[in-house]
Amino acid sequence: MTETVPSSPSAAVAVNLRVIPREQHTISRKNISSGALRVLYRLNEAGFSAFLVGGAVRDLLLGGRPKDFDVATNATPEDVKRLFRNCRLIGRRFRLAHVVFGNEIVEVATFRGSSDDGTGDRHVVDGRIVRDNVYGTIEEDAVRRDFTVNALYYDIADFSVRDYVGGYEDLMRRELRLIGDPVLRYREDPVRMLRAVRLAAKLEFTIAADARAPFDELGELLLQAPPARLFDESLKMFMAGSGLKSFRALDASGLLADVYPLTARALAIRSGATFRAMIEQGMANTDARVAEGKPVTPAFLFAILLWGPVRAQVEKELARGTDMNLAWIRIGNLVMNEQSKHVAIPRRFALAIEEIWSLQPRFENRQKKRVFRLLAHPRFRAAYDFLLLRTGESAETAALAEWWTQAQTLEHDDLAAQMNSMPAAPAVATEDASDAVAAAPKKRPRRRRKRPPGDAVQAPSE
Ligand code: ATP
Ligand code: MG
Repeated sequence: MTETVPSSPSAAVAVNLRVIPREQHTISRKNISSGALRVLYRLNEAGFSAFLVGGAVRDLLLGGRPKDFDVATNATPEDVKRLFRNCRLIGRRFRLAHVVFGNEIVEVATFRGSSDDGTGDRHVVDGRIVRDNVYGTIEEDAVRRDFTVNALYYDIADFSVRDYVGGYEDLMRRELRLIGDPVLRYREDPVRMLRAVRLAAKLEFTIAADARAPFDELGELLLQAPPARLFDESLKMFMAGSGLKSFRALDASGLLADVYPLTARALAIRSGATFRAMIEQGMANTDARVAEGKPVTPAFLFAILLWGPVRAQVEKELARGTDMNLAWIRIGNLVMNEQSKHVAIPRRFALAIEEIWSLQPRFENRQKKRVFRLLAHPRFRAAYDFLLLRTGESAETAALAEWWTQAQTLEHDDLAAQMNSMPAAPAVATEDASDAVAAAPKKRPRRRRKRPPGDAVQAPSE
């Protein structure tokens, strides 16, 4: 049976139910969290329909481990609250129920009607709410979702998968296809373009041609997207274990310029190849830490992403004769403010980022007093890790990193003695370079691989 259901106030989508019975798909209850199963069963026993939905169904069908389990139901949030003592209701217009089991939270959402475009905005005309039928049918709930593979429902009543929009076939083909007209769906919510890039990178899916085609024309809508959402989406892209793949995909999609314009510009200049290598190394390191379950901080990643622009602008500022410390502080601030127009980087991270940057020139000063002061700096570790990522910039930077690596292995007195026997280091960082090589003790500085001459300029969309 085919019927047409509005996916949003502006679009209608044909739905055609296909049921994939239990024996024809690979979802096993073993792989569903105990909390999610309890919620599904209890709703069902109380006479409601209850489904696992969204990323969890998609990831289970792909054999992955979902990080969270979302439930969709025809029970209202108040019904859910009555059924579960461990439940709290959140959200104002579209209320959601959170059912809590120890440290697991199962999000339970009532089928959402077609007035909701997924952006969390009300439809208001002249201050009036024109549509507020927020709850809807399962069909409406399916078509307001973004990609067909994100609109599959696992039914606890008979363990089948329900597919209203052809998502199962797309999943088998490993393709991301938007539900409805891509241009309309991106205009409703431009962040869906970033979700396409991110999910394709993470799942190693292709983006359907008609979903990819509007990027060039509509990408600039991201310039006006809410900065708080772009921050959340950035964390999902870069801090969730597929940072390197996400970065490369974002860069290749051309959308990097609409979210991180300064970064995209710095990648296109002469030193862009070195900057790109640094970002990629930073992303790879972060992915490895995530894989090992180690903590990662967004500050470090944002410091990397914006390093190219900072460095280029500091050089200009210094050429203008600005005092070194002042130049670093001024440019760091300027770049953060500019980027914050697009991505709402919380203040506490911004301060850490600016500090990581402003500590970089201080590594070049090896006067004894300064060295010990820097080693004791609360942000030394992050700044040093950052310096390690910069070794591709020049042989001098590589030697500097090596010197500081070695300095940390020495006892205080040994390091002090070594510096006493060293020629006095000049205070001005840029004159420090030859000295850095000479002072790097014991080990010879590693030879940097020389880039072929034509390799230096690289367009951001390559
Ligand atoms: P991830 O694995 O990153 O969590 P996900 O698909 O589960 O991927 P969520 O942000 O957790 O992503 O969203 C859950 C579900 O909500 C999605 O699968 C999709 O059905 C729907 N959804 C999320 N964002 C949007 C959006 N911008 N527009 C329409 N539907 C959306
Ligand atoms: Mg999810």
